[in-house]
Amino acid sequence: MAGDVNLPEVLLPPLPRDGMAAMAAPLPVLHEYGPAVRIGLWEGALPHAPINEADLSEQERLGLQAFRTRLHDSYRDEKENRPRRSAPWDEDGGRSGLDEDQPAATPPAPPLPADPTTVPQAPQVRRLAGRIAVGVVIVSGPGPLTMTSAQQSKIITDVQNGLSFLGGRAPARDVTFTYDLHVAQIATPDTTGPIPAGQDPYEHFEAPWRDAALASIGQPAGWSGVKNYIGGIKAAKGAQAAYCAFFTHYQLHHFAYCRDDCVVMQYANDGWGTKNLDSVFAHETAHVFGAPDEYALSGCNCGGSHGAYGRPNLNCENCADGGGVACIMRNNILDMCAVTPYHLGYTMPKAAGSV
Ligand SMILES: [Zn+2]
Repeated sequence: MAGDVNLPEVLLPPLPRDGMAAMAAPLPVLHEYGPAVRIGLWEGALPHAPINEADLSEQERLGLQAFRTRLHDSYRDEKENRPRRSAPWDEDGGRSGLDEDQPAATPPAPPLPADPTTVPQAPQVRRLAGRIAVGVVIVSGPGPLTMTSAQQSKIITDVQNGLSFLGGRAPARDVTFTYDLHVAQIATPDTTGPIPAGQDPYEHFEAPWRDAALASIGQPAGWSGVKNYIGGIKAAKGAQAAYCAFFTHYQLHHFAYCRDDCVVMQYANDGWGTKNLDSVFAHETAHVFGAPDEYALSGCNCGGSHGAYGRPNLNCENCADGGGVACIMRNNILDMCAVTPYHLGYTMPKAAGSV
């Protein structure tokens, strides 16, 4: 078992370098860093096929290193005894809660030329099913904003642990996270001073380092650059859905949040600390795929229509019997209530009834 996820994760035999797209793996692949490093869910025997570590790409090397870290007893112990384990996300009255992790509005995209023949499209509903491209951009700035190699490894390891939980819970075992990892080295100073009147506070802190990081990975500035990056990895990875995450030491309006299909997290992770990077990342990722908050201070209610299946928020702490059950959308725990799988849009067994 790797980390505290309690799934039969194994390193799968490497694929031939030139046959990645053509050779569909017969086993469920949970994480894909490249043809040589794929982590799957499998309890049976596997053919002995050693990995030639000298030939690994940097991304494959990082993915393998993360998996090996997660197999260590010390990592599992750290996760099983994580600080504030099971605490509701608003435990301390919201001082370090996730109650601002979903801004009311995302920055507007640049206006597009009017086209009278265009039919308005409904917003895309993302589902946590099939191949999911994950762009992870670790933003390393000058001086104290430097992201050390140990911190970079920690991020990649905790992303893997959090996504093992989210993807591994899919009943059909059909979720594959396929990664695009970057370390963006930038020289941008931190943002200080008051937020100018009328400016989006998230954008005020995020835009300077984000736009520099986007430039370092060959993308235009602004929200259009984020969208362009996400669209690019979705196409390149042949994925059904894609999102990205920035990790940084830069000052943010809130330490962890998601806007549409982009997660932003501060490495220190506020009162939850770095030992909970995985659970906070899993929570934010769940938002990307349509899961609503379930803790009281979020202001949730048990109605609504959320996620691809349009289910109400039945485990909302404000109205569920007994305040609801443990769930990643309610507590700092790698567990899930009965309705969050529907909110995430998992492929569900045909015989499944209502929840
Ligand atoms: Zn939230």
